Amino acid sequence: MSHVFPRHMKTHPPKAVAGDGCYLIDAAGKRYFDGSGGAAVSCLGHSDAGVRKAVKDQIDKLAFAHTGFFTSDPAEELADMLAARAPGGLGRVYFVSGGSEAVEAALKLARQYYLEIGQPDRRHIIARKQSYHGNTLGALAAGGNEWRREPFAPLLIETTLVPACYAYRGQAEGESLEEYGRRTADELEAAILKLGPETVMCFIAETVGGATAGAITPAPGYFARIREICDKYGVLLILDEVMCGMGRTGSLFACEQEGISPDIVTIAKGLGAGYQPIGAMLCSNEIYGAIEHGTGFFQHGHTYLGHAAAAACGVAVLKAFEERDLIANVRDKGAKLRVALESEVGQHPHVGDIRGRGLFLGVEFVVDRATKAPFDPSLGIAGKLKKAAFEAGLICYPMSGTIDGRRGDHVLLAPPFIMDDTHVDEIVTKLS
Ligand code: PMP
Repeated sequence: MSHVFPRHMKTHPPKAVAGDGCYLIDAAGKRYFDGSGGAAVSCLGHSDAGVRKAVKDQIDKLAFAHTGFFTSDPAEELADMLAARAPGGLGRVYFVSGGSEAVEAALKLARQYYLEIGQPDRRHIIARKQSYHGNTLGALAAGGNEWRREPFAPLLIETTLVPACYAYRGQAEGESLEEYGRRTADELEAAILKLGPETVMCFIAETVGGATAGAITPAPGYFARIREICDKYGVLLILDEVMCGMGRTGSLFACEQEGISPDIVTIAKGLGAGYQPIGAMLCSNEIYGAIEHGTGFFQHGHTYLGHAAAAACGVAVLKAFEERDLIANVRDKGAKLRVALESEVGQHPHVGDIRGRGLFLGVEFVVDRATKAPFDPSLGIAGKLKKAAFEAGLICYPMSGTIDGRRGDHVLLAPPFIMDDTHVDEIVTKLS
């Protein structure tokens, strides 16, 4: 028996021993197509030569120098690359080791910003139902996933939840997508007015809703309206792109496709592509400037902030995207996978919705397509599907509680960007 403390204590997963392109290989030699990139992490597959070399070279030179004392070439290079590619005004990059840390940093930065500009009453967070922002206490408090939140209530921070843009279940009869998007966004304005605009610190949302929601995409105009509302009331807009960012939806930052720029954006997962744990929070020059000219000190920090080998990994990942035009492949394979899913599994009586963007696709399961009734949660449909697919050699990411934290099942597909047309067939065959 190993002394590892696993998350699921009653199951005994096989041991992964090697990676080969889009595949993971277990100790018995079985190959699994990584159809979810773990959890939207392994965008370059599992054996990328360039990233492996970049990390090794950096460790040979310098692995770690605490940022309380030093900066490093890779950290500076990665920050410059990200800032140059980020939507307008997001000029400062704060490094962390993962997604939850990025969200914690974003929330604390928002709070400190309002303290420094003399608006100490702004402490309320508004977030969305069907959201997930991480498992640390602050990030958990900002998320809308009931079954994850409940055991730890009361949470440290009180969050007001507004509906997510979830057209499959939210769009009314006869309502256009644009009208639905506007109506949903306007719920944010109502929540701000109810709380009192002078007390609201930020609105946080995943640009494309991932783990909890199954790749729900914003309706046209939804985020433009959200941006307008945030500006009107001086509320900071934080977009969490930990899962949907870094090329996953067909653009480096998912919000590029919404034509807006947030005040803060969080990224992780794909930035290290699984080769190193790294994430980042990018913030506007305005927020940074207010603190720089105020106390000049962000009251936050972790030991591994700006880890040199992790930063070198991030640089190599971004270079791989560009040198091999991989985000174009995300758009191409994403479109093909979606068409194939629609034709091969879309007609199944229990498939209610197929949605998403790029290589970030969700399939929601229902008892009955006409009524959209969800399965009884005790059946654990998504988990059963994950198990059957895993046995067939396909990894997909399941979630139950899609609708309200309790009911509703989906699986998420987020395969590596390096996949080719044969992999489209493999995913669909193994899933159907
Ligand atoms: N935000 C989002 C949108 C996520 O999907 C996740 C992870 N699934 C997190 C934050 C937390 O990231 P991590 O697990 O790296 O802490």
